[in-house]
Amino acid sequence: MADFIKFLGTAGARVVVSKQVRASGGIWISLDGTNLYLDPGPGALVHSLKSRPKLDPATLDAILLSHKHLDHSGDINAMIEAMTEGTFRKKGTVFAPAEALKEKVILEYVRKYPEKIEKIRTGKTYRVKNISFTCPIRHIHHGAETYGFKIKGKRTTISYIADTKFSSGLIKAYKADIIIVNVLRIDPSPLEHLCLEDFIKLVKGIKPKTAIMTHFGMKMIEAKPWEIASRLSKELKIEIIAAGDGMEIKI
Ligand SMILES: [Zn+2]
Ligand SMILES: [Zn+2]
Repeated sequence: MADFIKFLGTAGARVVVSKQVRASGGIWISLDGTNLYLDPGPGALVHSLKSRPKLDPATLDAILLSHKHLDHSGDINAMIEAMTEGTFRKKGTVFAPAEALKEKVILEYVRKYPEKIEKIRTGKTYRVKNISFTCPIRHIHHGAETYGFKIKGKRTTISYIADTKFSSGLIKAYKADIIIVNVLRIDPSPLEHLCLEDFIKLVKGIKPKTAIMTHFGMKMIEAKPWEIASRLSKELKIEIIAAGDGMEIKI
């Protein structure tokens, strides 16, 4: 099977999620025959099943949750049940921060269905089928226990830089061929999120082959992120993509 990243949602801010200005289902990654779901926000199950070709959650090997916030976790229980074929087959692993488990973002009764539920932390390498991943640093500026993921396949490394405030440590932590960055804001703000300027710093520092922006707030959407991406691609001479709902990127 070909490797790909598919966006089942690209919404970031609460208002964008609440009004479904963009879908909020999160990201499906198929890499080296391993199927991962990152941050199954509200609509993850519906958008997976509706996607063409259909993405069947029963084929997932793992679900990775970066943090407890609803825009990332809203459909996690539905996706766990779907991964385990409606709870009929004990399979798959769920990786989540301890805080999300403590706050019962994953319901107690659902926890017995996957093969394993693992608390994520820095400094450990996790294996899922043919890939491995790490949570390089804890995103300390996000008001919740938050991690991103650096996923290593046979030929490709993909970093997912989840919600965070900018720090230069992110550049070192997330060196990869492809980076997926949650760029919620266009302008800098005291809120605990990355803005466009931060994204540019990350791209210049990491120098990936491809950099993908997603998880947009309202102002970013109004500024037409696809136009920003095409301008930045020329300026930085790196392929920059603004993710769209249902967009599939071949790896
Ligand atoms: Zn978020
Ligand atoms: Zn968040």
